[in-house]
Amino acid sequence: MRHPIKSVCVYCGSRMGNKPAYEKLADDVGRLIAGAGMSLVYGAGSIGLMGVVARAARDAGAPVIGIIPEHLDAIEITQEGLSELHVTQNMHDRKRMMFDRSDAFIVLPGGLGTLDETLEIMTWAQLSLHEKPIILLNHENYWSPLLELIRHVVDDGFAAPENADLLKVADTAEDAIRYLTHQTTSDQSKSQLF
Ligand code: AMP
Repeated sequence: MRHPIKSVCVYCGSRMGNKPAYEKLADDVGRLIAGAGMSLVYGAGSIGLMGVVARAARDAGAPVIGIIPEHLDAIEITQEGLSELHVTQNMHDRKRMMFDRSDAFIVLPGGLGTLDETLEIMTWAQLSLHEKPIILLNHENYWSPLLELIRHVVDDGFAAPENADLLKVADTAEDAIRYLTHQTTSDQSKSQLF
């Protein structure tokens, strides 16, 4: 059964980055997720862009589901006022639960953790383990070097051309959420992951 996108996982930095535009983008994404009647799934931290997205979504009325591994609970300073907080034993359980609870993914600017999460969810799609939309928010061209790298991987024959399309690219928060409101997803793939 296909259904509309009800919950969105946001991957983004545990730092703010050094351009004010990133914080504004994170705030817009959180607010628009709430405005679209969707819930937010994220890494439960209160710091960096993660915290900005979560507070914006929460304050605009969205259910916010935070998922954090035990060992990061102290470092990433868990956000208060979440609708649900799940503490997992390790990173793998965290990433699995974030996947399970989400119908789609939005990637904001972020660091190595964000890159890891994005590439992992792409590779699961490449292996046909899921069909959930993945949107790369290429605001301020932050992710252009990643898009160039993926093109290079395809050009040199290490990925099929269609794998370059696994990421839907959006420039603004509005475009990303508008895209998701027109998508549907299926739960069928969930049990096949591991
Ligand atoms: P970052 O983009 O590095 O600021 O990290 C963003 C999120 O990814 C944070 O919630 C981190 O806990 C998480 N993260 C950091 N390093 C890793 C990693 N090696 N694998 C998976 N997630 C990570």
